[in-house]
Amino acid sequence: MNLDVTQCTQCGLTLFPARYFCPSCGSNAWTRCTVESGTVMESTVVRHRAGERDSPPIYLATVRTDAGPVVVARLNAAVPDGSAVRLEVHDDQCIVAVAV
Ligand SMILES: [Zn+2]
Repeated sequence: MNLDVTQCTQCGLTLFPARYFCPSCGSNAWTRCTVESGTVMESTVVRHRAGERDSPPIYLATVRTDAGPVVVARLNAAVPDGSAVRLEVHDDQCIVAVAV
């Protein structure tokens, strides 16, 4: 599944998640835009989770999408900051970033 963001039709501000009113101009008219890629701003790894033993590490990243909004995504592996990634949304609604 693709990651969709919303863009204000009045002022062009692009947001994720969607909002009822544009915080910039107050409009409530939006268009949906598909975002397929972005750049890793910062990443971290979660090695221990409460109640789970020997679970695999989870790599998370803050990604600036090519459309502008910043999202938190799960990485399939550790990548350096500044890496280009492809973005997709899995069935569990998790945003996944894959290094390209
Ligand atoms: Zn606006």
